[in-house]
Amino acid sequence: MVYKITLLPGDGIGPEITEATKKVLQTTGLQFEWDVHIIGQQAQDKWGTPLPDFVLDSIRKNRIALKGPVTTPIGSGFRSVNVALRKSLDLYACIRPCKTYTGAPTPFQNVDIVIIRENTEDLYIGIEFAKGSNEANQLSELVEKNSGEKLRRDTGISLKVISETASRRIVKFAFEYARANNRKKVTAAHKANILKFSDGLFLAVAREISKDYPEIEFEDVVIDALCMRLVRNPQQYDVIVLPNLYGDIVSDLCAGLVGGLGVAPGANIGDNAAIFEPTHGSAPKYTGQNKVNPMAMMLSSVLMLRYLGEKEVADRLEKAIAEVIAEGEKVTYDLKTDRSQLAATTSEVAEAVIEKLKLN
Ligand code: NAD
Repeated sequence: MVYKITLLPGDGIGPEITEATKKVLQTTGLQFEWDVHIIGQQAQDKWGTPLPDFVLDSIRKNRIALKGPVTTPIGSGFRSVNVALRKSLDLYACIRPCKTYTGAPTPFQNVDIVIIRENTEDLYIGIEFAKGSNEANQLSELVEKNSGEKLRRDTGISLKVISETASRRIVKFAFEYARANNRKKVTAAHKANILKFSDGLFLAVAREISKDYPEIEFEDVVIDALCMRLVRNPQQYDVIVLPNLYGDIVSDLCAGLVGGLGVAPGANIGDNAAIFEPTHGSAPKYTGQNKVNPMAMMLSSVLMLRYLGEKEVADRLEKAIAEVIAEGEKVTYDLKTDRSQLAATTSEVAEAVIEKLKLN
C-alpha cells in the first residue's frame, strides 16, 4: 500500500527538517507518495495568497498532511497560515506529547504528559479591532451601554470566544484519547475564577463530561497554579486539556521540561483530516545552516504513523530516535549537555536515525 500524504515543508528551517524526516520515513519500509506544496510567504509571492485553495483540497483529498513550520509576519501582513489551516479544516484537537527521553538535557525524569489543546477558537479566533477603528469604537459603545464599563478610546480589542460546542468536543476528545491510550488522569486547566463566561463554560463542560469516564481520574486547575506545579513536579500530570491560548503556552513550557522544542512533536486532528507538525516555529535565524534538530518533526511523523495504524513501524522509529538521543553523539546542539561539544548537523541526525532503524 502507498500512503498519499500532502507534504508542506514550510519555510525557515522547515525544508531542512522536512527533508531529514522524509529520508527517515522512506527507510521504514513503508511507501509514500508525497504531494508537495508551498504555503506562507512563498505562496503569497507566487500565487498571491499564503494558503491557496488547492493546498486545502490536497489535504482534504489525502486526509493527512505532514508539515514543517511556517513564519507568520508580526503586526502586519497575512494572518497565521497555521491558524488558517486548522480553522479551514476544522482540526479542532491539537495533541502535543511531552516525554523525557534518556539523554535529553533536562533536570526532570519520567515526564510523560500529553497536552490536548483546543485549536479553533479562544483568542485565536482572529476577531480583532484596531485602536481607533470604527469597529473598535462601536464595540466600545456597545460595551458601555450593556455593562457600564467605559473603555479607553485608544483601546485595541481581541475577542476571547469559547463555545459550549467546541469545549464539549475537545474535552470529550481528551477523555477518549486517555481511554484509548491507557492514561489514568485528565486535568482541565482554566482561569474560571476571573473569566466566568468563557473559561467558566469550559470548566463546567469538562466537569460534566468527566462523569462519563469514571475509570479516569479528573481534576481541574487554575492555569497559573498549573504552571507553578508543572515546573515543581511535572510527573503528577498525565493528559492536560486546555483552551487554545493556554494550550499554546503550556505546550512550550512542557517542551522545555523534556529537553526543548527540538524534541516536541505535535498533531492537529479533526474528524476528516489531520496535520502532523512540530510544536516549534520556523526559527528563521537558523535557515539553511543544516544545524537544527529534526527530531520534533520526526517524532511528529511517529504520531502520523500511529494515526495511520502503523503502530509497529511507529514504535520502531520512536525507538531509533530515542537510541540516538540516549547515545548523545549524533545529536544537534540543543541536545548537547555541554554546548562546547561537537554537535551533529540536521542531516547527520537523519543518517544516525536511519542506521538505528536498519538495526532494529
Ligand atoms: P521558534 O520555535 O521558531 O524558535 C525559537 C527558538 O527555539 C529558536 O531560535 C531556536 O533557538 C529554538 N528552536 C526552534 N526549533 C528548533 C529546532 N528544531 N532545533 C533546535 N532549536 C530549535 O519560535 P519563534 O522564533 O517565536 O517563531 C519563529 C516563527 O515561527 C514565527 O513567525 C512564528 O509565528 C512561527 N511559528 C510557526 C509555527 C508553526 O508553523 N506551527 C509554530 C510556532 C511559531
